[in-house]
Amino acid sequence: MKPELISIVVPCYNEQEALPLYYKAFDALRRKMQAAYPVEFELILVDDGSRDDTLKIAAGLAGQDGDVKYLSFSRNFGKEAGILAGLQHAHGDYVAMMDADLQDPPELLEQMYQMLQNPDLDCVATRRATRKGEPPLRSWFARMFYKLINKISDTEIVDGARDYRLMKRRMVDSILELQEVNRFSKGIFSWVGYRTEWLSYDNIERAAGQTKWSFWGLMLYALDGIVAFSTAPLSVAMVFGLLFALVAMVMILVIIVKTLVFGDPVAGYPSMMCVIFLVAGVQMFCIGIIGQYLAKAYLETKRRPSYFVRQGNAEKYHRE
Ligand code: UDP
Ligand code: MG
Repeated sequence: MKPELISIVVPCYNEQEALPLYYKAFDALRRKMQAAYPVEFELILVDDGSRDDTLKIAAGLAGQDGDVKYLSFSRNFGKEAGILAGLQHAHGDYVAMMDADLQDPPELLEQMYQMLQNPDLDCVATRRATRKGEPPLRSWFARMFYKLINKISDTEIVDGARDYRLMKRRMVDSILELQEVNRFSKGIFSWVGYRTEWLSYDNIERAAGQTKWSFWGLMLYALDGIVAFSTAPLSVAMVFGLLFALVAMVMILVIIVKTLVFGDPVAGYPSMMCVIFLVAGVQMFCIGIIGQYLAKAYLETKRRPSYFVRQGNAEKYHRE
């Protein structure tokens, strides 16, 4: 029987401290799994325009280990681009996505592979059971984000889902068929469907180096997710419009009756200012929402490539 190929995609941005540790863990996993199953491995390191020695380390590993491939971007294009590039260059019957910082325990891959022997399953994904070790404010915002997006989007976005997962070829092919430039993977993985089973594990601290996410960066990422997977905010203007029209109708009636009964003394400058500010504020808010979608549509129509490869030995995968 022909051995099955497992591709592991690892996006790396400034991971010079973590990458050697990651490679050690990968090597141990490879040895362990190859002793138990007829499998081969392909490790695809995607250097996302790192400013440290990540590229040197990745190229070095690729030179000494035939199972290691690498790609290096012309600049930092973001993790989403790294994931996309990895998937496009993965040749495996199974493709896994993993962070370089060992927050996604490589040992779990064996269990995922075992689970995928079940023909009814297409993917095993992971989620964090807890948000331990994270700043409380960040956890709170994250929880609110998942609540909100699941309410306003048809695509289910699992709370605490990590990008760490193992997928069968057919699911990867489907993901690659999505042509959008603004990619929000958490949504895309869910949107393509297929049968996914979830594993949870406790939050693990980074093995080395530092997180690339600032609080503000996460906020913008959350906004991207909402704009990419829901159009519900666009209806906000309609709801406000209807609401204000109703209130205005009631106010008109009240004023007519009041004028008839008590006459018409001039008053109400402060309340008028309040109303003007309120209505103007709501209008601006709604225009802002429309602007967000317009901006995304604008960027999408440019059809800019998600990344440029400057250097590397990984080959693009072409479907037969
Ligand atoms: N990463 C990347 N490009 C970026 C930012 C991050 O490829 O612009 C990679 C990073 O090297 C790591 C993974 O994405 O392998 C997750 O990043 P990080 O650990 O900083 O995120 P966190 O685990 O804190 O959510
Ligand atoms: Mg991490």
